[in-house]
Amino acid sequence: MKLDSIALHHGYEAEASTKAAAVPIYQTTSYTFDNTQHGADLNNMKVKGNIYTRIMNPTAEVLEKRVAEMEGGVAGLALASGMTAITYAIQSLTEAGDNIVSTSQLYGGTYTLFSQVLPRMGVEVKLIPADDFAGFESAIDDNTKAIFCESIGNPAGNVVDVKKLAEIAHKQGIPLIVDNTVATPYLCKPIELGADIVVHSLTKYIGGHGTSVGGMIIDSGRFDWAANKQRFRVLNDPEPAYHNLNFAEALGELAYITRCRVVSLRVTGAAIAPMNAFQILQGLETLGLRIKRHCENAEKLASYLSAHEKVNWVNYAAMPTSPYYQNCQKIVKGKASGILSFGIKGGAQAGAQFIDALQMILRLVNIGDAKSLACHPASTTHRQLTAEQLKSAGVSEELVRISVGIEHIDDIIADVSQALDAVSV
Ligand SMILES: *Cc1c(COP(=O)(O)O)cnc(C)c1O
Repeated sequence: MKLDSIALHHGYEAEASTKAAAVPIYQTTSYTFDNTQHGADLNNMKVKGNIYTRIMNPTAEVLEKRVAEMEGGVAGLALASGMTAITYAIQSLTEAGDNIVSTSQLYGGTYTLFSQVLPRMGVEVKLIPADDFAGFESAIDDNTKAIFCESIGNPAGNVVDVKKLAEIAHKQGIPLIVDNTVATPYLCKPIELGADIVVHSLTKYIGGHGTSVGGMIIDSGRFDWAANKQRFRVLNDPEPAYHNLNFAEALGELAYITRCRVVSLRVTGAAIAPMNAFQILQGLETLGLRIKRHCENAEKLASYLSAHEKVNWVNYAAMPTSPYYQNCQKIVKGKASGILSFGIKGGAQAGAQFIDALQMILRLVNIGDAKSLACHPASTTHRQLTAEQLKSAGVSEELVRISVGIEHIDDIIADVSQALDAVSV
């Protein structure tokens, strides 16, 4: 099936006893065992089935199957948030003493995880600008377990050459992990471009209505963990946290995603709530329609802003003047999703005045809602960063980010226009 149809149908057949057409919300913590032997077999993964909602849930499972199918992966793991997905994705490959190499243009939470939290747990993250391919090659050493990037950087708006990073990773025998939150599978399917693992914040475009936080890891199933038992010890050594299972040997293409579930999720517990999985499934149904409209509206707003006298620059990768235009054609079908940023004449102060004058567009820190949203990253998402770090993350002080919604474009432009009129510096 095509993406639009997968989003509506994949992974669910009207449940046998009730014939419910919509995916039911399985609001249960636990699932009964037929007998003691059945319980033991479930825990030993000898038979398939549910045990406890911290580890799996039938509503979440439909979401996992649907998004994994849209991304071209073998399996998905739905989680409490996008940050959980990123944390578990890395935790499932690394131990203290290991490192990963990442693009430096990152979502603020990811930047803090990589620059502050993981290093204190003994996992170093080397941050390299996304287009510095030589920098990536030389940063990789024997303890490097993965390359990480965002297909479209948030808020930098840079489009990353995912194909090239996959080549670099594979040449050195390591997987590429791609955060595909901003692009969504409609604009980019990282697995087709060579990525091994995809992560999502479902909170954004996939949920699409600003109601539910969620995340997901999707495994391509293609990476051969057993090819380097020394490097990928975590998947090749007997796992004391799970019955001494050797994941690579026992589970083949499902080794990694299963370890994410039965070690990271089972033991640290950031499970998605069944109700959130349900809400996100409702959003997923219209993802294709919304992404089309988000892109159209963002393109129109970008050209409006480009011609405005109070605007210094506009950053939107689908504009021919963008430094990311080539990558935009190559990686995301010439569409740059719904997020654009611009610099106002008058710097940080003008940015604040603009944000305060908005009437319809919401002042908040989120993206991917059906409604238009605006924020000033230097004072919100990225406020913990030093001036140096801001620069490396691709965020300047005058930068205003707009997540362009699906309202009528005339109303979006009218609000932006009156807010720019209100800027007095
Ligand atoms: C929001 C976001 C995240 C984090 O997702 P949460 O669901 O808020 O935890 C990760 N990556 C990107 C690109 C994001 O925009």
